[in-house]
Amino acid sequence: MITLKEALTLSTEELKKLKEELQDKIAQNPELNAYIDLNNVGEGVPIAIKDNIQVKDWSVTSGSNILQGYIAPYNATVIEKMLSAGLSPFGRTNMDEFAMGSTTESSFYGKTLNPINAERVPGGSSGGSAAAVGAGLAIAALGSDTGGSIRQPAAYCGIVGMKPTYGRVSRYGLGAYASSLDQIGPMTQNVEDAAILYDIIAGSDPKDSTNAGMDDKVTPNLNADRKLKIAVLPKYLNDASNDVKEAYEKAIEALKSAGHTILEKEMMDAKYDISAYYITATAEATTNLARYDGIRYGNRIEGKNLEDTFIQTRSQGFGDEVKRRIMLGNFVLSSGYYEAYYVKAQRTRHIIKDEYAKIFQDVDLILSPVAPTVAPKFGELATPMQMYLSDIYTISINLAGLPALSLPVMKSSEGMPVGLQLIAKAYDEQTLFDGALSLEKTLAYKA
Ligand code: GLN
Repeated sequence: MITLKEALTLSTEELKKLKEELQDKIAQNPELNAYIDLNNVGEGVPIAIKDNIQVKDWSVTSGSNILQGYIAPYNATVIEKMLSAGLSPFGRTNMDEFAMGSTTESSFYGKTLNPINAERVPGGSSGGSAAAVGAGLAIAALGSDTGGSIRQPAAYCGIVGMKPTYGRVSRYGLGAYASSLDQIGPMTQNVEDAAILYDIIAGSDPKDSTNAGMDDKVTPNLNADRKLKIAVLPKYLNDASNDVKEAYEKAIEALKSAGHTILEKEMMDAKYDISAYYITATAEATTNLARYDGIRYGNRIEGKNLEDTFIQTRSQGFGDEVKRRIMLGNFVLSSGYYEAYYVKAQRTRHIIKDEYAKIFQDVDLILSPVAPTVAPKFGELATPMQMYLSDIYTISINLAGLPALSLPVMKSSEGMPVGLQLIAKAYDEQTLFDGALSLEKTLAYKA
């Protein structure tokens, strides 16, 4: 598949042909189920859009039954920015319902398959975007990352996925899951494309009060030759499979050979990250999802009276995973448990942030696994808890608000891609992309 950088040089005529080719290829691979539909706006370079990012006049459902039939009344800021840069939203991609999940199995539209091995999950929640890029059914895509939903499916499908610093990219027009953690980001075939797409979607937006209002660009200054200090976390890998451990060793050697300085560091046991994240994320999700009541948005199931309408609509409109999280979120926010759970989780979040800050006093980047294993088989994560535990390496980065980029570095013994991530200081996307470019060049891996 042609890269985003190359596609940006094509004529309108050539782009039209490219879109037809994409459409044909997508029609030939229906079993993958990467796309929910194939809308197209404008004549620019086609970019696949996760189904929780609003494109004016398109249906947008966040993968949920409750939003069936809802038409977006305006463009998300990232879409406006894309359109002004000559890109065209092209197709909505499948996702876990309301971005809650790690496998894309909780989508109302059915599961998406991993393009490298159909018996395996593509990851989630941006599994449709990852599968589309991984299968050559998209040049690049947008995803959203609340606790790993860009980086983990990117790792499982052998592509590059980047989560920006919290506040770099406007959340205006993004279906909210956990507002203090959500960021939109690029999912691409290589690191340079990720930088290009990041530059296009990032930047100031008065419509998002949490936006950092920064408009600096990374692509003009990309430099794979900078010599950086990179922290590695050997003890952190106890929960990782042998494939992931091997990939980590390989990456350390590659970074050393590229002239970077490696420093060993330690982090607190990542099990605390899981608790802090699932309390924070579900608490915020409960609040955000209260608006889906059958009156203001999407589907309505008429009940005997107003209260019954709320109950029927929400009972039938939400899937099991979303209901589980609404209950969990209400529990941790309830007056009897608020101090014991929610407040404690916020304290833990501060400790996690401080831990990163301490490491970043000595280094420019941190190298970490993305997931403990390669993409699991369908049904392998038998309980919700097992699925939550698979997020162990991604969620602390959202809790700390940091930027991170996942890239494929190796093929496992079973032929599946293994991804690793680099993590940078807040707002230091430049160093993140420079380091990632260097790692990509040294390991030269393609899924
Ligand atoms: N898997 C995590 C969750 O289910 C992260 C999802 C995401 O980043 N949207 O909450």
